[in-house]
Amino acid sequence: MKRLLKYALSIAVMSGLAVTPVFAQTEIHVLDVGQGLSVLVESHGHYMLYDGGDRDKSSFVVSYLKEEKVNSLDYVIASHYDADHLNGVVGALNVFPVKQVFSPDYAADTRVFNSFQSVIETKAIDRKQPQVGTTYQLGDASFQILSPTGDKYSDPNNYSIGIRITDGDSSFLITGDAESDSEKEMCKTNLELESDVYIMGHHGSGTSTSWELLQKATPEYAILSCGTGNTYGHPHIESMEKLQDMEIQLLRTDKQGTIIASTDGTSITWNTDPCNDYSAGDINDKPIQPQKQGTEKQSSNVTANQATIGTEYILNTSTKKIHYPDCNSVKQMKEKNKKTTTESRDSLIAQGYSPCGNCRP
Ligand SMILES: [Zn+2]
Ligand SMILES: [Zn+2]
Repeated sequence: MKRLLKYALSIAVMSGLAVTPVFAQTEIHVLDVGQGLSVLVESHGHYMLYDGGDRDKSSFVVSYLKEEKVNSLDYVIASHYDADHLNGVVGALNVFPVKQVFSPDYAADTRVFNSFQSVIETKAIDRKQPQVGTTYQLGDASFQILSPTGDKYSDPNNYSIGIRITDGDSSFLITGDAESDSEKEMCKTNLELESDVYIMGHHGSGTSTSWELLQKATPEYAILSCGTGNTYGHPHIESMEKLQDMEIQLLRTDKQGTIIASTDGTSITWNTDPCNDYSAGDINDKPIQPQKQGTEKQSSNVTANQATIGTEYILNTSTKKIHYPDCNSVKQMKEKNKKTTTESRDSLIAQGYSPCGNCRP
């Protein structure tokens, strides 16, 4: 595909036709690194790595880059210094020549941070915290720095370097593990946040993905990077409900593996269809037990009276969720996963189903 495009370009050049960047292709790979984040951005032979996942995925990230024919990296961004982002960055810095490292100006008292500092020193790589508002070129794409705007955060996640990548009309927002405090500051900068694709902040945690950010970004798609059965319960129900409310299509690495978005600057294509599986993680990761009669359900749920035998529910047989027929997620559900039932709510829960957090049956 790329070779064909190059061929088309050289024909265009030889025949004196105007060459427009519409042939250009930028790819965003959200690697399946389990509980962590790692994003490779490719544009016309130029590469940027944004985070590298945790220690156990470091060699996977390096071999993925090699398979993608990466010889050197134009930019490496270490969003912040938590292990689930930084370990694989150190791995990549050890293997590939790197022109520029961007990382925030704070120190962490950890082994991985020491390794990060020592590889930068040993290989004499230029490292700095980029200025918010500055734009950098990467092949036919460019990216603008959105955060951090402050320098005194109590939570290191808020130091995360947020960026917005654009190629033509296509745009992608990555905020690392920035929490809502930093998201609100991004909104105040008046920098453009509107993006086609939003790589969910902090693995879908409820402390990120604030309404403020979502309403400025108004993404059509969200990509979630998190690990199956992670102990943090990521993604949290609050974030998943916001996506559903705004009818944002969802792709997720824990269900679908590595996600690749490609753009020619006009439209975005995917290596896999959105799964639109908005189910939240479970902190205890235990199967949901049937509720006891006369407890939570009747005291807290105004619709409890409707939930008798005869009420019609729509089940998602893949995500094991119970919905009312008018729930937003029913519209997005794949036909093959959809099942209509009039069985009682309790009996469905006993079969392993759980009520949707949005329509709350
Ligand atoms: Zn993280
Ligand atoms: Zn973090």
